Amino acid sequence: MKIKINRSAVELRQGDITKQKVDAIVNAANSRLAGGGGVDGAIHSAGGPAIMNECRKIGTCPTGTAVITTGGNLFAKHVIHTVGPRYRDGKSGESELLINAYKNSLNIAEKSGVRTIAFPSISTGVYRYPVNEASRLALSTVVDHLKGDTSIEKTVFVLFSLKDLETYSTSLKDLIKE
Ligand code: ADP
Repeated sequence: MKIKINRSAVELRQGDITKQKVDAIVNAANSRLAGGGGVDGAIHSAGGPAIMNECRKIGTCPTGTAVITTGGNLFAKHVIHTVGPRYRDGKSGESELLINAYKNSLNIAEKSGVRTIAFPSISTGVYRYPVNEASRLALSTVVDHLKGDTSIEKTVFVLFSLKDLETYSTSLKDLIKE
């Protein structure tokens, strides 16, 4: 599914984020930038050690913030590392933190001249954020950002499973109906 917000495209696709031909991919990292499983492990293993070398120099990334490194051996020139919240009960500030993770990733992308960017579904794996709710926050945050002054031409959400792609598609349809 693909839509246009002013001059920017928002696209949903199923796939592996490490294979995307975009300027920057976003990593759902942890606050120690220590690497790990899930999308984080996949990005470090496909991108090689240059990414971790820069992460070590940066140090930490508090939940809701974002940092940028090289893309190493990836097609993407940059990896934007952001940290989503661990889901507890939905009443512990999770939604604000998830929104901030997307916002700060977009802001650092703008500052770095990124025109095409790919996001995974932040927080919905090991951090257990319900995908339906997370997809609505992710998509509305990106769409709101693209309604403002932006150099981003294309934003791709790369969903690992078909089920997640379907959830994001329903959320995007609902969002543009509003
Ligand atoms: P978090 O700790 O933020 O929940 P995870 O990496 O555990 O991060 O999961 C986030 C999402 O990324 C999950 O939907 C997971 O299925 C997905 N994912 C895992 N590997 C990849 C990949 N290579 N490309 C895209 N998405 C991936």
